[in-house]
Amino acid sequence: MKRIAILTSGGDAPGMNAAVRAAVRKSLSMGMEVYGIERGYEGLLDGDIKKMEWKSVGDILQRGGTMLRTARSERFMTPEGQDHAAKMLDTFGIEGLIVIGGDGSFRGSMELDKRGITVMGIPGTIDNDLGYTDYTIGFDTAVNTVLSLISNIRDTASAHERTTIIEVMGRHCGDIALHAGLAGGADVILVPEADLDINKVCRRVLRGQQSGKLHSIIIKAEGVEIDSMELAKEIEERTGREARAVVPGHIQRGGTPSGRDRILASLMATKAVELLYDDEESQAIGIVGNDIVHYDLAKALEVEREFGEDIYELAEVLS
Ligand code: ATP
Repeated sequence: MKRIAILTSGGDAPGMNAAVRAAVRKSLSMGMEVYGIERGYEGLLDGDIKKMEWKSVGDILQRGGTMLRTARSERFMTPEGQDHAAKMLDTFGIEGLIVIGGDGSFRGSMELDKRGITVMGIPGTIDNDLGYTDYTIGFDTAVNTVLSLISNIRDTASAHERTTIIEVMGRHCGDIALHAGLAGGADVILVPEADLDINKVCRRVLRGQQSGKLHSIIIKAEGVEIDSMELAKEIEERTGREARAVVPGHIQRGGTPSGRDRILASLMATKAVELLYDDEESQAIGIVGNDIVHYDLAKALEVEREFGEDIYELAEVLS
């Protein structure tokens, strides 16, 4: 393959830039031409495609977000849109595409694959919600961002002897709550994968109070079906101690990518370029254990995500 392109799609994730940089520079080092497509599939439909050089990706490694920008594209969801997107790639003579995004972006890639474009999918989403890979790019940074919030909140929660609920991102997948909860020593972790038992939550808060704890920290994923403010009210009423809810929102998406995310992004992007160079069929790149792996794109999407039951149980024991 001689000419390839890269796009970022769906929600932005820290480390996407590291992946773009690695993909561009690795391609150039192998003698391929590489193009950057702006605003995901939306930009592809508009032909916002520009040639990338070594210097085009300078000074982005440490930045969150994505230099290519990202979008959610309604137009691309239609067969006509997908035909047009494939034609656009053809017009530019682009034979292979690297898509950095979440499961929606990968489903879009499959439509392009059906139209003769080879696509390599790189998992870029803070949610860590793709079953075929242990980690997605951006997840580690998001967990670290939540950890730093927990430290800040712990100081003020202790000072005021308060219970604080921190609502973190994760509509269907509670991994950010789970990992930040274990690493941050949360008293309670609430995730969409486990049933909510308010009695149990209150018992844990009371147990902490009785043992002399000055505060309680509850990490709740946004997908848990109770409003965080309501939950705070309920806990306050039942435990007799002030409870507040904090919703950091998009703060969790931004920020400089962690070392781990930058390395993961660089390794995955390199693998994607090598697979395109070797004229392999469309694949999804991932990491399993310490190995960078790749699977057939459609098969990768069929892999069910496993909930980290062991982490969940350990966090309960240690809190
Ligand atoms: P995140 O996990 O951050 O939400 P994502 O890649 O899952 O990332 P989506 O908004 O679901 O984000 O998908 C990004 C884009 O991919 C959509 O705006 C749409 O253009 C395209 N897309 C999503 N699902 C499909 C599908 N089933 N078929 C074709 N294209 C799709």
